[in-house]
Amino acid sequence: MYEPAALPYSLRKLPDGQILGISESGDHAFLTSDEVVHLENAPAKLPIERQAELKARFFLTSSGKSIGTRRLLVSRKAAKRETVQVGPALHAIVPTLLCEHSCRYCQVSRSLEEIGHTISVSDLDAASDAVFESRAPTLTVEYQGGDPLLRFDLVRRSIERIAAKNSTEKRSIRFVVASTLHQLTPEMCEFFRQHRVFLSTSIDGPSDLHNKNRPTPARDAYERTIAGIELARSLLGAGSVSALMTTTKESLRRPEEIVDEYVRLGFHDIFLRPLSAYGFAKRNQAVLGYQQAEFQQFYLKALERVIHWNRQGIPLREVYASIILNKVLSTFDSGYVDLQSPSGAGLSALVYNYDGYVYPADEARMLAETGDKSLRLGRIGASLKALLESETQRQLVRASLTDYTPGCRECPYRLFCAPNPVDAKAQFGDMRAPVLMTEHCQRHMWLFDTFFMKIKAAEPWLLDVFYEWAAPPECEAQ
Ligand code: SF4
Repeated sequence: MYEPAALPYSLRKLPDGQILGISESGDHAFLTSDEVVHLENAPAKLPIERQAELKARFFLTSSGKSIGTRRLLVSRKAAKRETVQVGPALHAIVPTLLCEHSCRYCQVSRSLEEIGHTISVSDLDAASDAVFESRAPTLTVEYQGGDPLLRFDLVRRSIERIAAKNSTEKRSIRFVVASTLHQLTPEMCEFFRQHRVFLSTSIDGPSDLHNKNRPTPARDAYERTIAGIELARSLLGAGSVSALMTTTKESLRRPEEIVDEYVRLGFHDIFLRPLSAYGFAKRNQAVLGYQQAEFQQFYLKALERVIHWNRQGIPLREVYASIILNKVLSTFDSGYVDLQSPSGAGLSALVYNYDGYVYPADEARMLAETGDKSLRLGRIGASLKALLESETQRQLVRASLTDYTPGCRECPYRLFCAPNPVDAKAQFGDMRAPVLMTEHCQRHMWLFDTFFMKIKAAEPWLLDVFYEWAAPPECEAQ
């Protein structure tokens, strides 16, 4: 006879008082306190329909061996971590740090007058060849800077070399160039069209805010980026350009205007990103920094505005929300590098920097610009095996295993989240800093709490929107 028995699960009391249960498969259920007592002591006392629901979500199983349930549970847990196991899929190449902007919060860019800060041709060729060392069948090769289009010759050389090699490798390759688009020309667009290159740019909000955040000598950063977007869309198609924003102190007062600007410009994605705590931004913390609570307030208002537009029938996805919703609503992980255990830094993403070294993450090369070069994995040209077996990579893996990290080990969100050792290194100078003290942990704990409360309260149409956002996003790792 069927006798239900509880499987292991975690409980969390959300800030609004609700009790959230998360099973070992990553499925969730909102429980009453009576249900918690029954789950613990006498699951058979739960109504039969509720037992069926909780069984489908891996909170309950039939007593005895229940081999089928346990096998299914193992495969569900494996699907959650699959992206880490296929090898680095995101390869960022930094041809130059040169940039016309002089953003105060930027960690790395160098003005056009400065010399150096550009990759050598031999390192560029070696980096372009190295992307094929990964076993991943689908690769994203992203050119970052500085502004890569200031050295379009290097971008072109690298893309042509990779495309030529791929005629025998036969991988699925997606090229992305992250740029201000100030230098974009019709000839560049023609090359990008031939190689199906996507463009990624930055829009921080309306013209005055963007130009304040991203100063250029003529104070025309916004206007030139918009001209670049229009040129790209006219020659490469409406979906050829995506945009990212960085939340500065100036942005905090203007959440609705920023979202409205993205709608006005016809974007379907907005990524509400907090200011990085690394590098130059860290040195300018007193001027530019803000508290987590300030970002949270900003984020909630901006998200409400995004939801407002969706209610009007305007499709706009908030990328941070989609990353969190993918984690909690989807069986398959979209592979957001910062929330993988072991860390995706190195294992699923590599950065080939202008300085001739390979780094495990964008933030790691930014840290190097401030003098801390300890996160280098090795020289460009070293084998992938050597990079992934380097002592730095081993430390990154050890410091990002939720099962061995006090704080994460007990955290109900450990199936969706992980410590970020690069972030901890930047904040505390130590990859193994107490995780609960890190900005990374506090931000994500808050985001998971927030989205579970929103899921519970959502009307059916909004829940539909959330499920749509939970499909793996294309730009999450940028
Ligand atoms: S980093 Fe924080 S929120 Fe994430 S699993 Fe660890 S303790 Fe939980």
